[in-house]
Amino acid sequence: MITRWEGVLKSAKKSLFIAGSVLAATFLNASAFAAENCASNVASYKVSFPAEDAFSVSAEFQQPTSRLDLFWFPVAARPEGQSESVVDLKGFDADGNEVPLNYVGEGGWETPEKKKLSSISYRLLADHDEVNWGGVGAPGKDEVATHFDSSYFFAGHAFFLIDYEWPACAIDVTFDLPAAWSVTSPWPMQGDVATASGPWNLGQNVFSMGADKAITNSIGGRELTWLVADSLKDAKPDIERLFKVLPDVYAEFWGGADWDKYTVFFFGDDMTDGGAFQDSFAMRLATPLNEAEKVTWSHTLGHETMHLWNGAGPLRGENPDQTNWLTEGFTDYLTIKLMRQAGFLDDNMLQQRIANILRRFEIAKLMSPDVKLFEATKRRGENWFLIYGGGALTALLLDAELSAEDPDAFRNLMRDLYEHADKPYTIDRLMDRMNAASGGKAGELIAWMDTHPGAAEIRERLAGHGLQAAFFGVDEFYVRFPECGRRDCAPGFLKGPR
Ligand SMILES: [Zn+2]
Repeated sequence: MITRWEGVLKSAKKSLFIAGSVLAATFLNASAFAAENCASNVASYKVSFPAEDAFSVSAEFQQPTSRLDLFWFPVAARPEGQSESVVDLKGFDADGNEVPLNYVGEGGWETPEKKKLSSISYRLLADHDEVNWGGVGAPGKDEVATHFDSSYFFAGHAFFLIDYEWPACAIDVTFDLPAAWSVTSPWPMQGDVATASGPWNLGQNVFSMGADKAITNSIGGRELTWLVADSLKDAKPDIERLFKVLPDVYAEFWGGADWDKYTVFFFGDDMTDGGAFQDSFAMRLATPLNEAEKVTWSHTLGHETMHLWNGAGPLRGENPDQTNWLTEGFTDYLTIKLMRQAGFLDDNMLQQRIANILRRFEIAKLMSPDVKLFEATKRRGENWFLIYGGGALTALLLDAELSAEDPDAFRNLMRDLYEHADKPYTIDRLMDRMNAASGGKAGELIAWMDTHPGAAEIRERLAGHGLQAAFFGVDEFYVRFPECGRRDCAPGFLKGPR
C-alpha cells in the first residue's frame, strides 16, 4: 500500500485500528517461518451463494477454538467495521450442541468460559459498498470488499472468521457456487477446493467469486493472474505491459524471486491506492481514467509489485516500526529506478519523481522535527513523509554514492539483504549487513539524514552525482540532469545496466 494510512497491529488479538496491508503482512508472515508439524488441516470452510448479495459460510474446526476474528477497520458508518456484515452466527461443540458465540468488539467473537467450538455457520452480507472504507485513516475497499461487474471481491480477513493463533497448517475452502462462476485467488485449487497454507494465509489474501474471467500470464517461471473491472478496460493494455516486464526486471535486480504465483485485482474508485497481501494485491484506480492518473496508478502498481521482494516478501523487519524507511522508502526509490530501467519513465518523469522525493523529505522536516528514521513509524500517520521521503532519499544517495565507485555495489548490497532474509531482520542485523556491504556508508548516511540536513546541503550532495536540484520555499523542487546533448541524460546509477 502506498497511502500514509498503512497501519499497525493493535494487539495480539489481530485487530487493526488502522488499515494494515504491507505492514500487517509483515507481521502476519512471521508465522510462515515456524516449521509447523501438521498432522491434518486445522479447519475446513464451505462457501455457498444461496441469495443475491449474501454468502453462506460454514466451517468445521479440526482444531477446536474459543475465539474467532475478522480484521477490524471501523469507519463512521460502521463502528464495528467488517464484523457488521456477519449475521446469524452460530457455534457448536463437538457433540453438535450450540455454544454461545459473543461479539466482544474489535472484530472478535468469543465463547463463554473458553468453551471449545468444533463448527460454526454464518451468513456474510456482501453489503460493503454501502460504506466508504477509504476516508482518512481508513484502508479502502481494496482491503475490505467490493462488488464489481459480476465479481464479489473480498479480503480473506473480511470474509472468514479465523482463529489467528491456529498453527500454520492447511485450511481447505470448498466453494459451492453457481455453475458459471469461478474463484480467482492465490490459493492452489483442486476442483472447487482451495487450500490456504494457514490462518494468516487465508486471512491475508484477497479473492473474488463471480462470472468474470481473470487473465493469467506465465513469464519467467512466474504466474501472474489478474482480474480487471470493466470500468478499467482501457487500462488493460498498460497493466499487461507492466506485468509482462516488471517482474523480470525486479527479479534480475534482486538476483531472483521467492514467489512463483501472484494474483492481482483492479477496480474503480474515487482515488488511486493499493493494498498488498501475502500472495495477492488489489488496486483501486480513480475513475474515469485519464492520462494523469496513469502516472500515479502505474507507480502504485510498480510499488506494490516491488513489495513482493521488499516489505511483503522475505525482506522485512522483525519490528516493522524500525524498518519502514527500508520497506517503504527504499521500495519507492527502487520502483522509480527500475521502472526507469524498464523504459516506463522518460527523463522528464524521472526528474519529477526525484523532485517529489526531495519535496517529501522537506515536508518531513516540518512535520516530524527531531524524528529519526528508525523511530518514524511510531507515529506513522504524522511521519509518513519521513518514512517515504526520507527512506527514498536515503536509498537514492546510497545508490549514487556506492555507484560512484562500483556500478554494481548498491545492487549487490540489496541482493545481500535479500539473500540473507531467511528470518526477519532486527535493526542491528540489518545495519550490520548494510554497513558490511557498503564500507560503513549506509550507517553514515542514515546518521546524516537524521540531522535533517537543509535543502542546500542536499542540493550540494546531489550535485556530485549528476543531479542538479533547485528549491524554492518548502514545496517547490526541481531536478535536472546536466545537458548531455542526448535525450537519455539520467546519471548512470539511475539507468542501471540496460
Ligand atoms: Zn508500500
